Amino acid sequence: MIQIICPFCGKRDHSEFSYGGDGEITYPALDANEESWHDAVFLRENIYGRQIETWQHIHGCRSWLLVDRDTKTHEIFSVKLAHLDWHILLEKNR
Ligand SMILES: [Zn+2]
Repeated sequence: MIQIICPFCGKRDHSEFSYGGDGEITYPALDANEESWHDAVFLRENIYGRQIETWQHIHGCRSWLLVDRDTKTHEIFSVKLAHLDWHILLEKNR
């Protein structure tokens, strides 16, 4: 069972989260050609090992998270907010 530590809610079962996909994709510019967008959206690597993933705490605070996880062992190395501005806001209010 995978448990993810949400920065707002604490440790929760992964069933509270929705997987959002690869967190390291660099999307093309909005005016890029169709082929560039096709490749960015549909051509993904199926990594067997450590990768950065996006997860949304859909049954909690609804935050989007970046989770550094090993797909082979399910070990989670780090969890942080996907939106940097939220992270900065949290740091300022501590
Ligand atoms: Zn949460």
